[in-house]
Amino acid sequence: MDTPARITRRSALLAGVGMAAMGIAATRAMAAPAADVDYPAAHWVPATPSNYTASNRPSSYPINVVVIHVTQETFDDAVKIFQDPARAVTAHYIVRSADGYINQMVREHDIAWHAGNWDYNTRSIGIEHEGWVDKPEYFTDAMYRASAALTRSVCDRYRIPRDRNHIIGHVEVPGATHTDPGPYWDWTRYMNLVNS
Ligand SMILES: [Zn+2]
Repeated sequence: MDTPARITRRSALLAGVGMAAMGIAATRAMAAPAADVDYPAAHWVPATPSNYTASNRPSSYPINVVVIHVTQETFDDAVKIFQDPARAVTAHYIVRSADGYINQMVREHDIAWHAGNWDYNTRSIGIEHEGWVDKPEYFTDAMYRASAALTRSVCDRYRIPRDRNHIIGHVEVPGATHTDPGPYWDWTRYMNLVNS
């Protein structure tokens, strides 16, 4: 989860660079709703457009980082938060603990507000995992496997090296005030799955 980045969006709108991109996004959404996932195994459940910045990555910004998060909320509550304009937070994907079910809530070409660092937001894909940093029982095999397959796909599609310099925890983002995914997230296991 993250803190607001609304000012950046407002600046973009004032500068006139946001409207065209939003128009394109709206046209795309009306024309081809079924094609709104970038990862075929994901289910499209859109966040409110108030909670991310429309963009046309990787043309506007390169995508070269994957940021791993833990929600500190249930899956369903996190989905509602991403749909609530008052919360000003989103991630591209959220993975459910029990079975690895994945919702995509922001298109990869758009900038989700998840890293608490605008530079990292612009060049990353954010993946939330249902659970709490102090409850390792939420980090199930199903969730690790589903998330690792997603991260592998993102890395391969944008030619991101599949290593810990490019697949990082929220806690590793410069200036992070969050500790997720926390000490119980098994990075060795996760990276082995990403590279399997
Ligand atoms: Zn986080």
